Amino acid sequence: MATVVIVGGGLSGLLAALQLAKQGIPVTLFERKQYPFHRVCGEYISNETVPFLRSLGVYPSVFQPPVIRELQLTSVNGRAVTLPLDLGGFGISRFSFDAFLVQHIRAAGATVKEQSEVTQVTFNGQGFDVMAEGQSWTADVVIGAHGKRSRLDTTLNRPFLRKRSPYVGVKYHIRYDQPRNRISLHNFENGYCGISQVEDGKSNLCYLVHRDAVKKHHHIPELEKAVLHRNPYLKEIFTNAEFLFDRPEVINEISFATKGPLEGHVLMGGDAAGMITPLCGNGMAMAIHASKLLAEEVGAFCRNEITRDQMEQRYATRWNNLFAKRLWAGRQIQKLFGSEWASNLAVNLARFAPPIANFLIRQTHGQPF
Ligand SMILES: Cc1cc2nc3c(=O)[nH]c(=O)nc-3n(C[C@H](O)[C@H](O)[C@H](O)COP(=O)(O)OP(=O)(O)OC[C@H]3O[C@@H](n4cnc5c(N)ncnc54)[C@H](O)[C@@H]3O)c2cc1C
Repeated sequence: MATVVIVGGGLSGLLAALQLAKQGIPVTLFERKQYPFHRVCGEYISNETVPFLRSLGVYPSVFQPPVIRELQLTSVNGRAVTLPLDLGGFGISRFSFDAFLVQHIRAAGATVKEQSEVTQVTFNGQGFDVMAEGQSWTADVVIGAHGKRSRLDTTLNRPFLRKRSPYVGVKYHIRYDQPRNRISLHNFENGYCGISQVEDGKSNLCYLVHRDAVKKHHHIPELEKAVLHRNPYLKEIFTNAEFLFDRPEVINEISFATKGPLEGHVLMGGDAAGMITPLCGNGMAMAIHASKLLAEEVGAFCRNEITRDQMEQRYATRWNNLFAKRLWAGRQIQKLFGSEWASNLAVNLARFAPPIANFLIRQTHGQPF
């Protein structure tokens, strides 16, 4: 039987591993960190994923995740509107969800190697040589599920790395009286901040900000006081919430540049193939959906039902059909956020033309699968 290596244990890698293991395919997943760990992520998962997660037996009902049905949008100067969400979503921390998935994956027979960073992947004409932690491995198929940016992208010489990306992501867990059924998106100059509940009555507060704003104010607390607090909703939250981390999780160089689902015969999934702007709240759903395509095509190749060429072409075509338009729409909608006039325009659009606002939201979301 052909063997599979997966680089990266976020949602796309973990769920691809689970499905391949369930098909009886030998699969090894390498994750450079150790579970459980926090990630910079808004932790709102679109309900389009629920049927699929249930079909795999991994909808995390044991955590009683809050079900989120409405969106509150506020502008830089504090104008607000609340909209129902057609599909909605649920809230769960990646700390809990990823570790829960790892248990299921190991039980299904996959090997998960934690604290193991893949540094090189080379296609030798027949299969792959993989380097991780100074050791060499072989595999017939490699799935790149290594997220937004990784050393592996450098060794594969991926073109998106040539453009610097100006965004920084910051995330906290807090205790705050955020309504259980609501996700709020609060704008501030040069960025936006999401807040919604996860498990155990905690809330996730996560924002994306332009690098120049961080540079100007030197430190995160100063930036928050000088910029985020100008939105009265954010000032209220930052003043009254209990912050549960000693310090925030922070990531730099978040890129929404076009990438693509194939690189040097490696099949890319999730953010490694293309990252949607976080305000859409759909990156995890896309990563989960990509894992389904990957498991179907890689599974067929491993059972000798299709050739490598067919596997690559079919995966690339299906990936483009499902995600290319959504990624483009996310980039366009992002322009409506992070400035006073544009965020007021977005709030007014939602207030006075809800069908248009709902149309825009639908462009960045998929159908239940
Ligand atoms: C500020 C912000 C807020 C967001 N909010 C939301 C939201 O509310 N809802 C939503 O749906 N999406 C949101 N997203 C997007 C979402 O987090 C991602 O789309 C999703 O996590 C992608 O999953 P993934 O499996 O592709 O990658 P990741 O979850 O990033 O996982 C990649 C994994 O690969 C590992 N790795 C990297 N390189 C290597 C290597 N060389 N060897 C071994 N392991 C490696 C990493 O350690 C990591 O664990 C947000 C993103 C940001 C930046």
